[in-house]
Amino acid sequence: MIIDVSDILKDVGASKEFEGNLVLEDMVYQGEKIGFLTPIAVSGRLTNVGELIMLNGRASVKLQLQCGSCTQPFDRMLEFSLEAKLDKTDDPEDPDIFVYEGNAIDLKDIVFEFFLLELPIRKLCSPECRGLCPYCGCNLNLEQCECEQNFAYREQYEVDSRLEALKRVLSANGEEV
Ligand SMILES: [Zn+2]
Ligand SMILES: [Zn+2]
Repeated sequence: MIIDVSDILKDVGASKEFEGNLVLEDMVYQGEKIGFLTPIAVSGRLTNVGELIMLNGRASVKLQLQCGSCTQPFDRMLEFSLEAKLDKTDDPEDPDIFVYEGNAIDLKDIVFEFFLLELPIRKLCSPECRGLCPYCGCNLNLEQCECEQNFAYREQYEVDSRLEALKRVLSANGEEV
């Protein structure tokens, strides 16, 4: 996504619109699979504000993510805005500045950086996702296993048998229970 800005570099206040697609390969980010079902569609405006060029834009992409709860893949639209300052020289005082060279700006790194910031940290296929059974591993969105009841029953049984043992000790000491 290289945008020629030679036409706006001469005049302060000059701006130009742009539009394009950024094609990215499926990737693994922080241990999780990110699939791109569409390119990232980007549009916006570049404005010469004197010292800098300002970028204002929007981006959208359809992703295939993996649910952090039930591990199933699911599709999700991601839309985000882009706001960046572009300069020919780096400014250590201002971490929001992206550097470009010559008369052209490559938006790839900028869009990619904003994209990573927008990725949901906890990826859920739905807010109601019931996840996997911690005992047998079945997908609780699709099937219902007996583990939960069986486990609750076993816990109750263990508590009861401990109480019985306590009662026996107490009655052996001649106390009323
Ligand atoms: Zn899920
Ligand atoms: Zn189960």
